Amino acid sequence: MRGTITADLEVRRAFEADASGLRMVPDAVARPLEEPDVVEVLRHATAERLAVTVAGAQSSTTGASITDRGVLLSMRGYDRILDIDRATRTARVQCGALVSDVKRAAAEFGLAWAPDPTSEAESTVGGAIACNASGPRTLWYGPTRRHVRGLRVALADGRVLAVRRDAVEKNTAGYPLAQDQVDWFIGSEGTLGIVLEAELALVPRPTAVIGLAVPFATECAALEFVAAARETASLAPRCIEYFDAAAAAIAEGSDRGLAAAGGNRCLVYTEQVVRDGETRDGVLDGWLALSETRAALTDDIQVFEGDASLARARAMRHMVPATMNERGAQARAAGGRKVSTDWAVPYRSLPAALAAVRAIAEEAGLGPAVTYGHAGNGHPHQNYIACDAMELDRTEQIVGRTLRHVVSIGGTIAAEHGIGKLKRRWLPLQLSPVQLDVMRALKHALDPSALLAPGNIL
Ligand SMILES: Cc1cc2nc3c(=O)[nH]c(=O)nc-3n(C[C@H](O)[C@H](O)[C@H](O)COP(=O)(O)OP(=O)(O)OC[C@H]3O[C@@H](n4cnc5c(N)ncnc54)[C@H](O)[C@@H]3O)c2cc1C
Repeated sequence: MRGTITADLEVRRAFEADASGLRMVPDAVARPLEEPDVVEVLRHATAERLAVTVAGAQSSTTGASITDRGVLLSMRGYDRILDIDRATRTARVQCGALVSDVKRAAAEFGLAWAPDPTSEAESTVGGAIACNASGPRTLWYGPTRRHVRGLRVALADGRVLAVRRDAVEKNTAGYPLAQDQVDWFIGSEGTLGIVLEAELALVPRPTAVIGLAVPFATECAALEFVAAARETASLAPRCIEYFDAAAAAIAEGSDRGLAAAGGNRCLVYTEQVVRDGETRDGVLDGWLALSETRAALTDDIQVFEGDASLARARAMRHMVPATMNERGAQARAAGGRKVSTDWAVPYRSLPAALAAVRAIAEEAGLGPAVTYGHAGNGHPHQNYIACDAMELDRTEQIVGRTLRHVVSIGGTIAAEHGIGKLKRRWLPLQLSPVQLDVMRALKHALDPSALLAPGNIL
């Protein structure tokens, strides 16, 4: 086999961690470079009844890409961008290509792959597909699922399947669930098959985009602005991100240029594409008008324009989870870690939901979570740092109560990072026994010996 498969302890240790704070050392590591190598590993694993957990860049926050059972199959070396077709706006890529590399390659053709996890420079296309990743611009473009046309997938026994979205516009041949095989693998977290290659749908790359960082004195005012921005017909934001005062301070610390976040203030960051028939000034005026009527601290609004400036805003946004991950890592020695949520509610319910879950934590004597993220989608991230094992236990109880509340008001326990190993116990809060049985039936049909990614999701 080209590439390597090894039981060397040093190599195994190199794959023991993702961004979850958990550590799991696999029994062996395979690093295939070609499709036949993957097939060989899977056939061998099936014959020997060995578990196989596939990993991309291991940026998972849920322990989904680590294992202490069987083989860790790292696809990071399977990373070629095979083809970009300007006419059909399609890219064909191997699963180990980084999301940011695909974007860079598409940009040369005036195109873009829309999914934009803030970890795009440290996550792969296979990982994005397997987690149905999303990001700030999901508000406009939708999650990864919408931007995948076809997949080449290796099943647990080594059979390779090529699946595509329907070419016809109407189809009544059997269950829609059975017709669309691409969706079997989106969000499957390595449990149903190994994504080898993907055919991605690209979008035209916008030529002019305006970003605005709008500060507010209170969370309440900032979140009212978010809802109003979604409901103002003349505005078409591609993202609306919220930073509470603690998160804004981290973003600001990463770049003094984000002066608006200074002091104890919350921040909303939004971007809009200047579309045909619109002008830069017209778009800007629309946002300033809304800011004035919604108690924004308008003197401190900051505007971002041009690739470099927008990339800087994005880097500051990324600094918040990256910093919180570092803080979590520092607590590991004492048995603590970062505990992060990615629940979401219908966007109009967000202010009430945040107030309720902050009260749950406060009542239990837990310090406030650093809260930030995709408010336009009703989807904040809450990051707690549990300093030791006892606090970890207490924090997880609070998260459990939070998720019960979120589900009770029509929300989801996991809007973008998937379930992995860490959130598996919460899944029955949201999915009924029948739904879980249907998922188990699909898993059994594709992976009857339950060899793929044990411990993830189910
Ligand atoms: C600082 C930080 C910020 C983040 N921000 C975001 C964000 O904005 N949005 C978001 O959605 N996520 C975010 N994440 C989470 C993570 O980056 C994404 O889930 C990402 O898509 C994972 O990609 P990866 O290549 O690292 O996958 P891994 O972590 O290696 O794997 C993730 C899952 O995908 C499966 N998998 C990987 N490759 C394949 C394959 N070829 N075939 C089948 N299954 C596969 C694995 O088994 C695992 O279950 C963030 C993480 C960090 C650390």
